[in-house]
Amino acid sequence: MNLEHLPRFPLAEFPTPVHFLKSFSAEGKGPAVLMKRDDLTSLGLGGNKTRKLEFLIGEALNQGCDTLVTAGGVQSNHCRLTAAAARKAGLACHLVLNGDPPEAPNGNLLLDRIFGAKIHFCLRQNRDKTLDRVAEDLSQKGQRPYVIPVGGSNSIGAVGYVHAMLELKNQMDQMEIRPDAVVFATSSGGTQAGLALGAKITGFKGQILGISIDQTKTGNAPFLPILTKIANDTSLRIEAGIQMDESDFSLNCDYLGAGYALPGDLELNAIRDLALNEGILLGPVYTARAMGGMMDLIRKGVFTKDQTLLFWHTGGTPELFAWADQCCRTFE
Ligand SMILES: *Cc1c(COP(=O)(O)O)cnc(C)c1O
Repeated sequence: MNLEHLPRFPLAEFPTPVHFLKSFSAEGKGPAVLMKRDDLTSLGLGGNKTRKLEFLIGEALNQGCDTLVTAGGVQSNHCRLTAAAARKAGLACHLVLNGDPPEAPNGNLLLDRIFGAKIHFCLRQNRDKTLDRVAEDLSQKGQRPYVIPVGGSNSIGAVGYVHAMLELKNQMDQMEIRPDAVVFATSSGGTQAGLALGAKITGFKGQILGISIDQTKTGNAPFLPILTKIANDTSLRIEAGIQMDESDFSLNCDYLGAGYALPGDLELNAIRDLALNEGILLGPVYTARAMGGMMDLIRKGVFTKDQTLLFWHTGGTPELFAWADQCCRTFE
């Protein structure tokens, strides 16, 4: 394996902490639950995209690019962190956001503005086209755009989560913990592909369980082949000598609710539970859905008292402010 030769631009301090959720674990009367705090990466309010962006920006700088271009939903955490990281790296940043510009920007969109990103709104079905057009326009104006795919999920970004798994391995050894499962929100796949590959590399025996936020096993874009491709491309990039197949991924698609960015009771209950028991915040789009799913699996007895779970908190807390009305109605 060869990780050290890859260009990397430092964005945050690692390792992120691993915390034992004492009251939450007792309350659930189920497994002991630990949390890996990637919501605390020290850039622009934190989140999982930070680890991917260290390698993506490393590559952008290596290629002599001067502008980052990426895309996502209006409340994209990935776009917010790309905007923040661009500032730290001295690069310009253009964001293609699908959705309507709200009257008063809030949550991640407000932060995009504060970080000075240039924002291009578009319809969801025109997102890829718009991304290409923005990059082309920049090139024509003599700039050197570096296009980052949605969620930063390619073989460059996923290296960040191979690294993260090596980091967790050291922490597990030091803390003498052996989680039966690592549970997290999965959507564009870079996090899960990197963690699953990292688990193979480190010989981690527990389950690496992605709770799907919006992906399905069937349909137009079945997720397992996507995960497999990212993981295998990443394995080649770092010369891991590992070939992954679809059976190497654990994916739960039972908690898609009303759809992407449409939180319901599952998410809001998880937000309240973690806030009241631990003083920890979750984001309604990703982490609350994954935590709500994990709590449901515990309730159903899929995970039991004698087990240990590690929930990988991937961030997204700024989303909360964009769902303030719904939170207020529910938490009255
Ligand atoms: C992007 C994101 C995820 C999903 O990570 P992928 O690598 O896209 O699968 C999970 N949680 C949060 C908060 C995110 O912003």
